[in-house]
Amino acid sequence: MEKVLGLTVTDEGVDDCMVDTNSSIRSRLCAIVGEDSVRDSANERHAYSYDATPIVTGAPDWIVFPQTTRQVSEVLRLANEERIPVIPRGSGTNLAGGTVAVAAGIVLNMTRFNRIVEIDESNLTVTVGPGVITADLHRAVEARGLFYPPDPGSMRISTIGGNVAQGAGGMRGLKYGVTKDYVLGLEYVLPTGEILRCGGKNYKDVAGYDLTRLLVGSEGTLAVITELTLKLLPLPESKRTMVVYCKRMVDAARIVERTIAAKIIPATMEFLDQSTMRVVDQFAHLGLPTDVAAMLLIEQDGVEQQVDRDIDRIAQIARKVGATDVQVANTPEDGARLMAARRSALAALSRLRPTTILEDATVPRSELATMVSEIERIAEKYQVQICTFGHAGDGNLHPTCMTDERDAEELERVDAAFAEIFEVALRLGGTITGEHGVGMAKAKFLPKRVGEDGIQLMMRLKQAFDPNGILNPGKIFVRVPDWQHVAE
Ligand SMILES: Cc1cc2nc3c(=O)[nH]c(=O)nc-3n(C[C@H](O)[C@H](O)[C@H](O)COP(=O)(O)OP(=O)(O)OC[C@H]3O[C@@H](n4cnc5c(N)ncnc54)[C@H](O)[C@@H]3O)c2cc1C
Repeated sequence: MEKVLGLTVTDEGVDDCMVDTNSSIRSRLCAIVGEDSVRDSANERHAYSYDATPIVTGAPDWIVFPQTTRQVSEVLRLANEERIPVIPRGSGTNLAGGTVAVAAGIVLNMTRFNRIVEIDESNLTVTVGPGVITADLHRAVEARGLFYPPDPGSMRISTIGGNVAQGAGGMRGLKYGVTKDYVLGLEYVLPTGEILRCGGKNYKDVAGYDLTRLLVGSEGTLAVITELTLKLLPLPESKRTMVVYCKRMVDAARIVERTIAAKIIPATMEFLDQSTMRVVDQFAHLGLPTDVAAMLLIEQDGVEQQVDRDIDRIAQIARKVGATDVQVANTPEDGARLMAARRSALAALSRLRPTTILEDATVPRSELATMVSEIERIAEKYQVQICTFGHAGDGNLHPTCMTDERDAEELERVDAAFAEIFEVALRLGGTITGEHGVGMAKAKFLPKRVGEDGIQLMMRLKQAFDPNGILNPGKIFVRVPDWQHVAE
């Protein structure tokens, strides 16, 4: 038996004496949110036992759909009193096991908080519920000539609350930054039920510790976010897309470096390695060349003349470095067709084998080519199939392994390969995760990134927010044997 952040866990789940699974909890939950908003059929518990992360599972006892901040507060008070784990959840598209109910308990489904409360054109802010779908927010602000740049690949299904709690990135990170750069203020509920606010509409605000930043990327382990105020920009007037093919990965990396050295920051600089290109082409029939080592997909946006100048200049740089082909889209439709290769990468790869494991080891941009060749070496060493694509502009790679979770021996080799990939990323000055978060999937690697002292400090913060360890247990930190006495 082990302790997971204060909760006693057996092989079957949480110790009976710790979590009261009897009907009285159910009735109390129904009294807070209404009968229709508490689900616990076998089918629904199964449906909520996993997220987009393969292999990791754990069924909740109840799935609860609150609609107001007051309801969230009351559910948390009840859970805290009864020491029931609570797992906040948006669309469950995270790739780190971040919403798996590892110690059973309540999945708090936040998708009913899906209201765009206010678009403030004077302050350039938007205030939303955490359940708003990312792409719906894009559409709503773009209709007013405004722009919310963070664009994770999952944006058509992911929620803003999930993006913020996960610290999501996206394809426009190089030029515009990532989700954390757009969060100005939050309303949140502590696991003990208090409703608090931090930040607001001020772009400048240094009053006290920056709790807004602390909660961004806290992966549902510190508080439940119930409202967010986000920063907006004016919508760029034009956008162009180009694709560059390279015989060697090192050429692709050099094009990225030289473009930035020429003081051009493209909105997007994505890459696919040769093995990913082959699979994507079989899937989407885009007519990609198969005799090159890599392709770069580049987008620039802004004032039309500047965009044209940047695209011409990048094409010159690419040719000079030795790109085998440079194609510039003439229409937005052509641009979308070129970007389709990147957007369909994960779908194409996941057709190959029953299990697809996608990671996001990240290195300084200057180490991109080294990292890709190290991934190839590691795949060869462990005899596993890894294709790599990702955000070349910010060194955020997605080495993706196609495997079969039913083959224990192969899974061991996959684990060993990823452990070595993380080691190499750290050695090159990188990190174990650029945008997908730690969750359960990378918890065991976190001490290598932040050190034991870092882990201890993070745990003390966790205790301050969540003294009984009820919020999203088993995430970020690996099992902690001596946590329980803290709660006593
Ligand atoms: C095809 C695909 C492409 C992807 N592309 C990208 C990408 O380009 N960039 C990227 O960064 N990620 C990407 N992801 C990962 C994932 O989609 C993002 O991390 C996204 O932000 C998760 O949003 P969600 O609503 O699904 O959150 P969930 O998966 O439901 O939750 C994510 C985390 O946030 C917590 N959480 C959710 N809501 C709240 C709340 N209201 N309060 C407190 N905590 C909360 C959860 O507990 C969990 O820890 C991709 C995933 C897929 C499947």
